[in-house]
Amino acid sequence: MASGDAAREARLRGDLEKIVGSAHVGGEECLARHCGPGGVLAGNIVAAPGSPGEVVELVKYAVSTGTPVVPFGGGTRLLEVCPPESRGFFLSTMRMAKVVELEVDNLSVTVEAGLSNTALQGELSTHGLFLPVCPDSPRSTLGGQAARNHSAWRRYRHGKIGDFILGASFVTPTGKLVKTGGKTVKNASGYDLAKLLAGSWGNFAVITGIIFRLLPLPEKLLLTTAEFSSVEDGLRTAAAILRHKTVLSSLNIFSSGSAGADATCGWNWTLALEGSAEAVASHQKFLSALLPGEFTVEDGSTAAAAAKYEAARDGLHSGRRATAVIDKRKIASLGPLLRLLLQQGIPFDGDLAAGVIEFALPSHAHGAAEFGALLAQRVAALQPGVHLLCDRIPPQPLLGRLSAGIDPAGIMFPNNLFRGGKGHGQGI
Ligand SMILES: Cc1cc2nc3c(=O)[nH]c(=O)nc-3n(C[C@H](O)[C@H](O)[C@H](O)COP(=O)(O)OP(=O)(O)OC[C@H]3O[C@@H](n4cnc5c(N)ncnc54)[C@H](O)[C@@H]3O)c2cc1C
Repeated sequence: MASGDAAREARLRGDLEKIVGSAHVGGEECLARHCGPGGVLAGNIVAAPGSPGEVVELVKYAVSTGTPVVPFGGGTRLLEVCPPESRGFFLSTMRMAKVVELEVDNLSVTVEAGLSNTALQGELSTHGLFLPVCPDSPRSTLGGQAARNHSAWRRYRHGKIGDFILGASFVTPTGKLVKTGGKTVKNASGYDLAKLLAGSWGNFAVITGIIFRLLPLPEKLLLTTAEFSSVEDGLRTAAAILRHKTVLSSLNIFSSGSAGADATCGWNWTLALEGSAEAVASHQKFLSALLPGEFTVEDGSTAAAAAKYEAARDGLHSGRRATAVIDKRKIASLGPLLRLLLQQGIPFDGDLAAGVIEFALPSHAHGAAEFGALLAQRVAALQPGVHLLCDRIPPQPLLGRLSAGIDPAGIMFPNNLFRGGKGHGQGI
């Protein structure tokens, strides 16, 4: 490190320590704890404020010195949008991780942004409630999931996390603490500012707290898994199920990438029904008639079912991914595409109910090029029913323009790929 850089880093570290205390300013080792070892963010400084007031001070400091600030939570998706080199500092919400107020009868909860979704769901379940957007990783924070507008297992039924945000507190890129929204569904008569944070990827504000709308846990959650002897059989059955009105909350096909060349094994199919015991029982009976052969049915707690779902998607999250968006009327003709993925040993998760297939990409450039050509061929045969999204996060001009208006000094995560920076873009 050049001596000028070292002096700048020492000054920055000292200034941050004055705001949050020396015990709460870390470096590489702290990011590695969040983002995994060998993270590309080496040499950066992390400050962990303990209150919204300290966030305000940090952002004001960033503005007055022109220092970029990157908010982050669990770090599970940070590297996708963050370039390796950064001149500023990272702001971790790890010390702001409390449930502030749970109003069981009002079906609302106020949390600090650094609380993990897993911890929240644990507490809610003891009151028979849940936030219907499941955790993906135990490290994911509610602030990070809101900033990313996370959608999870059962998105077909429940949508995205932004649909459950009733209010928020956040610190603007000029260092103002703003509270917006409230604890009721009807609480904004003008522009719903809290919703602007959903999908803002750390660009518009540091989210410090969120008020979520909650739902009672379903009386019954039923998970069915089935194996089909052929891809076509499975797809035909899925298409038939989607045509009927049921209390379906997800319908997925998975492969861990271990299928044989004949593509007849190594993949399976899951379906979830949720609602009143009566509705689930009646729809289960109806669906049984559509399902061929043997299949297993489990009554699941939401946590156990979510864990099963994430386990089935293992292998998708270690490298580059791509996404195909499907017109649901085309489901029965997805056979050639899925067969290709199976033959190439590519792990995938097809959320057929929501109309999206995510798959891993080969990591070697040669394999990726070859595979890309094959994939393009198969997708072309299905056009216009399947639209392949690229594996790199494309810059979003509107987000960039909004950011420029909201953050004229350009201090809030200015090198974010979405804002035109050059990130890694492993796929979202
Ligand atoms: C195994 C696995 C499965 C997944 N499956 C899905 C899926 O099915 N569907 C889906 O939608 N996503 C999925 N994800 C992505 C998931 O939504 C994100 O990993 C998670 O929401 C990020 O939370 P985090 O706390 O780790 O955020 P980070 O990775 O720390 O940050 C993510 C982004 O949010 C910003 N940010 C974080 N906290 C704040 C804050 N307080 N204020 C402002 N900005 C902030 C950061 O700047 C960054 O841009 C999956 C991830 C994993 C690891």
